[in-house]
Amino acid sequence: MESDQYNDPAMSRGCSVPDRVNRNSKPDPTVVKINKIMIGSSDIVIMAGPCSVENHDQLMETAKAVKSAGGVILRGGAFKPRSSPYNFQGLGEEGLKLLMEARRETGLPVVTEVMDTRLVEMVAGYADILQIGSRNMQNYPLLKEAGMLRKPVLLKRGMMASIEEFLLAAEYILNQGNDQVILCERGIRTFETSTRNTLDLSAVPMLKHLSHLPVIVDPSHGTGHRWMVPPMAKAAIAAGADGLIIEVHYKPEEALCDGFQSLSPDEFSGLMVDLKKIAHAVGRKIYQNE
Ligand code: PEP
Ligand code: MN
Repeated sequence: MESDQYNDPAMSRGCSVPDRVNRNSKPDPTVVKINKIMIGSSDIVIMAGPCSVENHDQLMETAKAVKSAGGVILRGGAFKPRSSPYNFQGLGEEGLKLLMEARRETGLPVVTEVMDTRLVEMVAGYADILQIGSRNMQNYPLLKEAGMLRKPVLLKRGMMASIEEFLLAAEYILNQGNDQVILCERGIRTFETSTRNTLDLSAVPMLKHLSHLPVIVDPSHGTGHRWMVPPMAKAAIAAGADGLIIEVHYKPEEALCDGFQSLSPDEFSGLMVDLKKIAHAVGRKIYQNE
């Protein structure tokens, strides 16, 4: 693709795209590989699991439910970035060990958040994908540390970040030699108060237009309402997302974190049925383990 900053609407509206993430420098889409799972290919990848790892039974039951509904990557936070220091902060390394047990039981690879540069190596020793959360999207030392690894990174859009700032954050990771980066739209802060965040689905085609990196959507944090997750998950796939990350809890009403936006196992498996139809309608399919 030729760079034409005058004819490209994104450029002319004041979004400049750094080199390494720029589609002009690499027209073929980047495919992030986790075992046989290819994020950024024609298949759509569904990640799901609890907001946070709480205890053995909660994680195992939820992980099994995710797997039987067709989710292929297990999410779960061991280190939680909570707005209040008095809220549950996660189980730390014990949570990572539980995630490994869930991976052994189900065969699902694991995505989990790292918040601290001092813990990148430790968390990377457990996780299949390292998540850098919205609050840390502009934590440049953390981005650089993650860039030094050769492990996929799920980078969530900062809640106040423009598309340009989001792509610049990804550029930090690529600049260190790690091109296995997945971009995640998770909603931004606007004047709107009826939703937790405003899920910017226009970011999906825009990011895919500007960059070769895969783009996924988090309709859970993007809306903050359980009932809004299915329609926005479907809309995300219709808009061209390469995957979704969805909060699922075996007993949402008892969750220590984000229960109000977590799907029950039944709701998640119902959604998976609908997602297959939407994927088919846009010429794609939901990736399934054989
Ligand atoms: C999460 O996915 O657990 C999370 C904290 O999300 P975000 O960083 O998007 O708020
Ligand atoms: Mn959450």
